Amino acid sequence: MCCLIYQILLHHRMLYGKKGHERHQNQHPQHRTQYDCKLFYNFVAKLVCKTATYKVSVSLEEKCLKPNNSFNFFKLPVTNNSIILGIESSCDDTSAAVIRGTELLSNIIANQSVHEAYGGVVPELASRAHQQNIIPVVHRALTVAQVKPQELSAIAFTRGPGLMGSLLVGVSFAKGLSLATGVPLVEVNHLQGHVLSHFIDEPGKQLPHPKFPFLCLLASGGHTQILLVKAPLQHQLIGQTIDDAAGEAFDKCAKVMGLSYPGGPVIDKLAARGNPDRFSFAKPQILELDYSFSGLKTSFLYFLRDEAALNPSFIEENKADLCASLQRTIVDILIHKVDKAIKQTGVKEIAVAGGVSANSGLRNELKCWGKKRSCNVYLPELRYTTDNAAMIATAGHYLLQEGKTAPLDIAPLARM
Ligand code: ADP
Ligand code: MG
Repeated sequence: MCCLIYQILLHHRMLYGKKGHERHQNQHPQHRTQYDCKLFYNFVAKLVCKTATYKVSVSLEEKCLKPNNSFNFFKLPVTNNSIILGIESSCDDTSAAVIRGTELLSNIIANQSVHEAYGGVVPELASRAHQQNIIPVVHRALTVAQVKPQELSAIAFTRGPGLMGSLLVGVSFAKGLSLATGVPLVEVNHLQGHVLSHFIDEPGKQLPHPKFPFLCLLASGGHTQILLVKAPLQHQLIGQTIDDAAGEAFDKCAKVMGLSYPGGPVIDKLAARGNPDRFSFAKPQILELDYSFSGLKTSFLYFLRDEAALNPSFIEENKADLCASLQRTIVDILIHKVDKAIKQTGVKEIAVAGGVSANSGLRNELKCWGKKRSCNVYLPELRYTTDNAAMIATAGHYLLQEGKTAPLDIAPLARM
C-alpha cells in the first residue's frame, strides 16, 4: 500500500509539476479537472491491475463491466465490528475517517482556505484542492486508526449531492482503492450522512443518540430540510427550502456586510455581543413545513442599502446588532417549522444536523424551546456539524449491514 501511495504521489507531482500544469493550461477548467481525475483514476487502476494496460481515453468501468472481468470482490462477511473507511469530498472539505462497528478510530479533515479570497466556494479550485489533499488525508486516517487497507470491510464514499468536480475526486479515489485492495464500495448520500452523525460513537465516550422515530432539522450550506427518521436508513422528507438554504442565507448576508467566508461562524461570533431585538427583518409566509430564505436575504440587502445611503458607516457602527438580529430571525424561522412538525407528527425526539447546527444562537434557543415543549433535543458535537467523513463511515456501517454495496461503474451525482 505504501508503494501504491508513493506512486500516486509521484503521479500527482506529474500533474501539478510545472510541465503538467503547462500541459493543461489551455483547456477549459472543467475539462481540465475531468481530465486530471481520469488520469488519476486510470493511474490507480494501472497500479493494481497488473495485466491491464489502460489508456487515458478508455473508460475503466467499461473494462470492469465486461462479463469476463475479474473484479468480483464483494464477498466479505459483514459483522457488527466491520472496519469502514469513509471518504467525504462533496464540497470544500476533504475528509477521511475510519470506524470499527460505529466506534470512531480516526477522523481527518483538510479544510480549503483557498476560497476565502472569493467569498464563496470556487468549484474548480475545490476539485483541484481535493486532488492534492485526498491521498495524505486517507493515509493519515488509516495511520491514526492503525488499520491496514486490506483489513477494511468496506470503503464508504459520498456519491452526492455536491459539486461534480469535488465528488469526482472522492468517488474516483474510492474506486481506485477498492480495486487495489479488493475491498467493497458503499455509496452514501451526503445528507443521510449528516443525519447519521448522531450515531457516531467515540471510544470511551457515550454520545447520546436520538430514539426512533425522531425529527431531524438538517440545515447546511446547500440544504435545509426537516426529516422524519424512522430507522437508520429510513428518512422521510417532510419539509425543505424552496430557494436558499439557511447556511446560504448566513453566507450571503455576511458577504453583503463585507464579512469573510464562510459567513455563518463570523455572524455567530459577532452576534454574541449584539442586540437581537434592535432590527427586524422579513419572515417568510410559506405553507406547510417548507422554508424560504431568499426574501430575508433581499430585505436585509435593501435595508443595508437604504441605511448606508443615509450613513456610509452604518454597517461598521452596527455590525454586532445587525448580526444578532439577523441570526435571531434565521433561528426563529428554523424553529417555527420544527414546532409545526412536532404538532403534525406528535414526535418529540428532535435532532439537528449540518453546518448551521453549530450556531450558538440556534443551539441555545433549541435547548430552551425543547424544555418548554417537553421534547428531547439532540445537538451534535461541533466537530460533526460541518462536512466530515466520520458521518459518511457511520452511514456506510448501516448500509453495509443491509448488504448495500456499490458497483464499480457507479458515478457521482450532483443532485440526489
Ligand atoms: P454543505 O454540506 O452544504 O457544504 P456544511 O454542512 O459543511 O454545508 O455547512 C456549511 C455551512 O454551515 C456554511 O453555510 C456555514 O456558513 C454554516 N455554518 C457553519 N458554522 C456556522 C455557525 N456557527 N453559525 C451559522 N452557520 C454556520
Ligand atoms: Mg454538508
